[in-house]
Amino acid sequence: MNIHEYQAKELFARYGIPVPGGRVALGVDEAVAAGGELGYPVVVKAQIHAGGRGKGGGVRPARNEAALREAASAILGMTLVTRQTGPAGRVVRRLLIEKAVEIESELYVAILIDRAAAAVTIMASRTGGMDIEEAAARSPGAVVRVPVHPLTGLRRYHCRELARGLRLPPALDSDFCRLLSGLYRLFRAHDCSLVEINPLVLTAGGRLIALDAKIVVDDNALFRQEEIRGMRDPAEDDPLEARAAAAGLNYIRLDGDIGAMVNGAGLAMATMDMIQAAGARPANFLDVGGGASAEMVRQGFSIILSDPNVKGILVNIFGGILRCDVLAEGIVAAAEKMEVRVPVVVRMEGTNVAQGRAVLAGAGLALRTAADLEEAARLVAAIGGES
Ligand code: ADP
Ligand code: MG
Repeated sequence: MNIHEYQAKELFARYGIPVPGGRVALGVDEAVAAGGELGYPVVVKAQIHAGGRGKGGGVRPARNEAALREAASAILGMTLVTRQTGPAGRVVRRLLIEKAVEIESELYVAILIDRAAAAVTIMASRTGGMDIEEAAARSPGAVVRVPVHPLTGLRRYHCRELARGLRLPPALDSDFCRLLSGLYRLFRAHDCSLVEINPLVLTAGGRLIALDAKIVVDDNALFRQEEIRGMRDPAEDDPLEARAAAAGLNYIRLDGDIGAMVNGAGLAMATMDMIQAAGARPANFLDVGGGASAEMVRQGFSIILSDPNVKGILVNIFGGILRCDVLAEGIVAAAEKMEVRVPVVVRMEGTNVAQGRAVLAGAGLALRTAADLEEAARLVAAIGGES
């Protein structure tokens, strides 16, 4: 789960990580009031769950009240398109009004889980800021990675290694260590998968301040992260993912155009690979679960059909606990309520497969049934080719 920058900065402040003074604002008058309280100059920042806002026009400085009013009016309600939002963009509904900081240099610091190293890892780069991706690609040597063993936790030598990598003046060593230790405690205490500061700035006055804040919390830990759960902004949730979560389905929207409905996470992954191998791209991951009911299948099918990017659907079910006839009833129930406007390929095997095929055949739906996985892949490739 993602939270907004202003929420992440509230957490930063609690863990002793320096942040500029700031206020969240839901309207222009509220933004202007915040500017008055903070004192000018300020920066007006769009709050959406995506980075790249600066380049997309979602971060604007304001020297006085008139400029703040103008910037806030322009950003609130705009559809902000950044390299992380995709072409559809996100509507801005909240602003962060923040004290402007005089920047000497922009650094990058993040804590994440490095699966290859099987360890929480701290990453830092002296070329932070809005072009971090390009800078990292150009000079990979500028990025320092320091794994932290869970039994030792973060130690001073980790901090020193990172400080040297960032070429920080030695006078800042203890400030930097305090900042890192706060960041590490926050990461652990809130079950994060990522905490990122980009940029961490060195100010003209020689201080370190977190100018941006990104926190991602592991969804599987939300049951014990009550405060984080309370930070959820439903406006930022993908509506189809929210519907799937409410129906108890494991659904993740992707950017391809072949919808996939599968039972079992392993089979769902293999099916996505198969779609890709056939030269098409999956529009989603959907595991209806091993013991799905006809109602869950109906919900899943209807969620896939509701995705306007979907040009074709592949249903790949191995009937075990979920019997093929139950699956077929779910599909037929969904098709009765919604127009099936795209080709559907069904491959099923297993328990009650003959009854399942009979249910589908009896419903008179325009389905293409595949005898096996290879044929299913061929049919999917053909759909991909029809566009
Ligand atoms: P994003 O990563 O989404 O583009 P950031 O919060 O990193 O958004 O802001 C983009 C840039 O705007 C930063 O790299 C920094 O140069 C500038 N900026 C952001 N906040 C402030 C601030 N409080 N004072 C001065 N400059 C800022
Ligand atoms: Mg940033």
